[in-house]
Amino acid sequence: MNLKNLKKTDPEIYQAIVQEIKRQQEGMELIASENYVSEAVLEALGTVFTNKYSEGYPGKRYYGGQENTDIIESLAIKRSKKLFRAEHVNVQPHSGAPANMIAYSAVLQPGDKILGMDLSHGGHLTHGHPVTLSAKIYKFIGYKTEADGSIDYQKLEKLAIKEKPKMILAGFSAYTRQLDYKKFSEIAKKVGAISMIDIAHIAGLIAGKAIPNPISYFDIVTTTTHKTLRGPRGGMIMCKNEFAKAIDKANFPGFQGGPHMNNICAKAVAFGEALHPSFKTYAKQIIRNAKVLETELKKRGFKIMFEKTENHMVLVDVFGSKGVPGKIAEEALDKIGITVNKNMIPDDPHSPFDPSGIRIGIPAITTRGMKEKEIKIIAHWIADAIENHADEKFLRNLHEQVKKLCRKFVIYKHLI
Ligand SMILES: *Cc1c(COP(=O)(O)O)cnc(C)c1O
Repeated sequence: MNLKNLKKTDPEIYQAIVQEIKRQQEGMELIASENYVSEAVLEALGTVFTNKYSEGYPGKRYYGGQENTDIIESLAIKRSKKLFRAEHVNVQPHSGAPANMIAYSAVLQPGDKILGMDLSHGGHLTHGHPVTLSAKIYKFIGYKTEADGSIDYQKLEKLAIKEKPKMILAGFSAYTRQLDYKKFSEIAKKVGAISMIDIAHIAGLIAGKAIPNPISYFDIVTTTTHKTLRGPRGGMIMCKNEFAKAIDKANFPGFQGGPHMNNICAKAVAFGEALHPSFKTYAKQIIRNAKVLETELKKRGFKIMFEKTENHMVLVDVFGSKGVPGKIAEEALDKIGITVNKNMIPDDPHSPFDPSGIRIGIPAITTRGMKEKEIKIIAHWIADAIENHADEKFLRNLHEQVKKLCRKFVIYKHLI
């Protein structure tokens, strides 16, 4: 990346960027929602498209000078449609949380009821946490997972019949099992609710055909573009044609102003990459890597929530397994250069600030090229660090080994 102007005009910012590149190169990124975009995506983000106001949609804009913005937004739409086999796509939402807000407001009235996944069971903040704007506008009811990690669809159906929600919402941020898309859709039809799924975490696995595609079962599908899908930070809404007008209107002028065209440009590039056969290999490798992580951590006596993983992450009950709180485990791993996040486990007896679990995700290090062999080593480092969290010298030694492995899997070699 060309930073030569920044280096001269703003050395403070330049320094921070250089340090961040280094941090990303030397650290082991295991946050389940993060990834490394390609240098092509980075290039697309840093273009003059950031200068352009493009309110409206291709062919129907409010300002002139749209011949090039129309090209990139149309390409982004065309590629995402192909990738997910979607009927209609809106690529303008700035991120995942606004995409959900836009989707709710397109089809619901204030006060309407939404049946979504309970937050401590894996649902996202935007699926009904009381601190969010959406929870102030809509009434959220939560469904939970069972002790074996599954969702009991008969229970869900009973709850839906009792509550009569206007929307049934599937999707999660910290759940590791596959969903029965057909069941969700049947229950929604039975109670006359709109069906929506938020695939923010698993979009890349779906695009890479490593897990089934929910698109034909749901009225509305929202996603982020920056998690497993490996694009720039952003959101996207896909829907059946009958909801297209409502979604587009709810996005603009309903919720957002001008789309971030540099970002849409980078989304188009990322979708192009995801259409490439190599992305299928990537998505399948993610699943294999997560399985190795699960297997090795189980061998070391860690309790894996939801019994197992069928996607890109594992949720580990570190407190229940080793008596180590999630926060202490996160800090110990930080000390060895491995980044994870502390996370609630279902019906966590502890507070969200000091929960029982940690969430570990594999997409970023899989992008770096790490495979089963490396994941096995990393799993044991994680176990070692948590079990020896008070031994500073031990952690320092482990940190050196982590750095050594990271240096072997180079990322962003040409950036500076
Ligand atoms: C990450 C996530 C979001 C929010 O995305 P942002 O881009 O952070 O706004 C929404 N829903 C789910 C399920 C997520 O995992």
